[in-house]
Amino acid sequence: MSAATSSLTAAFSAFAREGGYLLRDNRIYGACRRYPFEAALASHGRGAVCFFFRINGILSTDRLKSLRETLGQGWTIGVVSSGTYSLTYKPTREQSESPDFAGAVEHMAKALQADRIPVPDTCPLCQKASCDALAKVQDFGFGPVHRACLRKAEKTLRPVRASGSRALGLIGALLGTLVGLIPSIFTIVLLDRVFLLAYAIPPLCAFQGYKLLHGRMDRHAPLVTAALFSLAATLLLGLGHCAYAAQGLSAPAQLLELWSARYGLGELLKELLVWVFGSWLAWGQFSRSSGYAAHSIQTSLDTMTDRNGKALASSKRA
Ligand SMILES: [Zn+2]
Repeated sequence: MSAATSSLTAAFSAFAREGGYLLRDNRIYGACRRYPFEAALASHGRGAVCFFFRINGILSTDRLKSLRETLGQGWTIGVVSSGTYSLTYKPTREQSESPDFAGAVEHMAKALQADRIPVPDTCPLCQKASCDALAKVQDFGFGPVHRACLRKAEKTLRPVRASGSRALGLIGALLGTLVGLIPSIFTIVLLDRVFLLAYAIPPLCAFQGYKLLHGRMDRHAPLVTAALFSLAATLLLGLGHCAYAAQGLSAPAQLLELWSARYGLGELLKELLVWVFGSWLAWGQFSRSSGYAAHSIQTSLDTMTDRNGKALASSKRA
C-alpha cells in the first residue's frame, strides 16, 4: 500500500468514525440530511473513494454545475444512471492535505435539499413508507427499509439446511429433470415441436429436485448441477425429437449418426442456444430461491443503520 493510499484509508475510516457511520468491508453506509449514501474505497493505484446517492429525482443542471464548482480539487460528480449520482474523490499527485469527505457529502445533500428532491422512504420489501432503518437490499442498493421486514425475511428465508448431501441432491436433480422433460415430450408427440419456454422447465425442476431431496445448499453445487442436468436434458430432447421423427431406429449409435447427419453442428449450436435461454429464464427463480435469498438478506442485516444513517450499537464490531 502506497503512502497516498494509506492516508486515504485513514481519512476514510476517520470520516466513518466521526460521522458515526457504519464501516464494513471497505464500505461506508450512512446518511446526510437523511439522504442515504454508500461509499466505497478502492485501494489500487493512488486509491479512490466513490460515494453513491440513489434518489427519486434529478438535480437541475444549474445545481449540478454549481456543485461541480463547489467541490474541491480531486472531486468529480457523475450520473451513474437515472437517479443515481456518484461523487468520486481521486487524489492528484501533488495533493498533500487529506480530503474533506464530510464537506463533499454535505454539499451534495444540501444541493439535493435545495432542489426539493424528496428523501427516499419506500421499503423495497413491503412497498410501504415510514421506514425505521437503512440497509442495502439486493438490486435496490442502500436505502430505507423496515427493521421488521428484514427480520421477517431473515426468518422465512433461512437456508433450508447448510449441511445436506450432494449425492441426494444429484438424485433429486435427476428426477426433477426427468419431470421437467414431460411437457416437451407431450408437445413433440402431439405437435412435433418443442416450445422455447419449455427449455426453462428442466433447469427449474432440476434445482427444485435438488432442494426437495435436501441436497447440500452451498453457493455452487445446486446451480452447477441444475446447469449440467438441463444441458444433458436439452441435448437428449434434440436427440429424442430426431428419433421420434425417424421411428423404427433403436440402436443408440444409429441415432447419433442420424442426428449428426440430419442436424449436424447447426442443430447442436441451436440446442446450446436454447439451453442458455432456458437457464437464463430460470436464473431469476434461482436467485430468489431460499439459500441464495437468505445470503442477500444477511448482507442487508449486516449493512443496517438507523434511519439517520448512524451505525447501530450492535453492529459496531466492524
Ligand atoms: Zn417494509
